[in-house]
Amino acid sequence: MKIIVVGGGASGLVAAIYAAKNNNEVIVLERNPSCAKKILITGNGRCNYWNMNQEISHYHSSSLEKIDTIITKNNQEEILEFFNNLGIVPKIKNGYYYPFSNQATSIKNALLNEVKRLNIEIIEDFFVERIEKEQDKFYLYSSSRKIDADKVILSTGSKACPKTGSDGNGYQLARNFGHSIIPVLPSLVQLKGNENYFKEWDGVRADVELSLIYENKKLKEETGEIQLTDYGISGICTFNISGLVSKLLYERKTPQVKINFCPFIEKENFESWLEKRNIVMNHPTIEELLEGFLNYKLIIALLKKCHISKIEEWNHLDFQKKQELISSLTELTFEITDTNSFDKAQVCSGGIPLTEVNLDTLESKKVEGLYLTGELLDVDGDCGGYNLGFAWISGMIAGKGVSKKC
Ligand SMILES: Cc1cc2nc3c(=O)[nH]c(=O)nc-3n(C[C@H](O)[C@H](O)[C@H](O)COP(=O)(O)OP(=O)(O)OC[C@H]3O[C@@H](n4cnc5c(N)ncnc54)[C@H](O)[C@@H]3O)c2cc1C
Repeated sequence: MKIIVVGGGASGLVAAIYAAKNNNEVIVLERNPSCAKKILITGNGRCNYWNMNQEISHYHSSSLEKIDTIITKNNQEEILEFFNNLGIVPKIKNGYYYPFSNQATSIKNALLNEVKRLNIEIIEDFFVERIEKEQDKFYLYSSSRKIDADKVILSTGSKACPKTGSDGNGYQLARNFGHSIIPVLPSLVQLKGNENYFKEWDGVRADVELSLIYENKKLKEETGEIQLTDYGISGICTFNISGLVSKLLYERKTPQVKINFCPFIEKENFESWLEKRNIVMNHPTIEELLEGFLNYKLIIALLKKCHISKIEEWNHLDFQKKQELISSLTELTFEITDTNSFDKAQVCSGGIPLTEVNLDTLESKKVEGLYLTGELLDVDGDCGGYNLGFAWISGMIAGKGVSKKC
């Protein structure tokens, strides 16, 4: 069988390798001058390619119950074995897997060496504009070429970080075959607000408890580092709530975030702790009172928000001002007005519903012989190796799947 894989990214390369292992002729069509451009920028160039904790709660989809069938124990073990056999030695930090070399190129090169070993042809600079099916054959068109195939694996990615080649054009290729698309929204992305103190805290990193709030209900909480920016917030904790934020904004709802900048002490004990600290420190200025546990720029931002002078003393604040400051330190709340765009997003939520593919093979239920992988599908994951994890496993399933039905 002649199998064409459209897109030489994470899921496409794995799909090609598995398809070739079953003695198929496999060709990868990649629009860029070289494959795996996105892999190279993952994990800040180190490629966080897997996570040890594969609880389904780390994945998101409109058909979450179906992910169990894809991220199975066997598939997890097989994909780790796959990378092991490619020669990748993992460096595991808090369950996050990186290549021991600390270089994403190790993953890219390992995949491309295997592609070469299996005689898989890669045609670069081939942008698939159109795919047609006549009887049992597929025809794939670029602006100047036409290639035929018995089966097609569509691995064109999402529209996150389009400069890498995945710009969302694959959704249209799938739509042309009758697939529907669950709204595609930026995820693992920075969040924006409109507060006047953002300028003061720009560039600060803080260890916090970050909650996503909608209509006074806490929808999600993350603990860890966030980055404070002149437009709002960024960092891993922010990314992990951003998918839900995107959905709320898309539904024209108004999400808020609540930040506890003092997670080292129970909230209900914070006030008495601060009072004691004030006495022990012999009635310092507010600035001095806060300096031992908060970044200076953050102090200035929060004091600006509360209209309190930094040279004021705690004892001189009235009850209301004290409560306002305590609340800003332990539950600073502001509205999220937007996310950054797809350009800055690491992944997208939404895509082709899992209900439109056969979960054992990832073959389309709309068109026989068409397979779908990776971020094109309606699955996204938390930060920490889940998105590549899904890309590898879905590529493996489709790569094997092409041979299952012959
Ligand atoms: C900055 C950044 C950091 C990230 N870090 C991590 C991380 O550390 N860990 C993690 O798990 N995930 C990470 N991700 C997410 C991860 O990279 C993606 O989820 C994953 O690459 C998706 O794989 P894919 O195969 O679906 O698509 P991609 O890897 O995007 O591959 C799609 C390929 O298809 C090609 N293509 C598109 N359309 C066509 C066409 N019409 N014709 C021919 N070729 C086409 C594209 O050029 C591209 O090469 C990160 C993403 C970004 C942007």
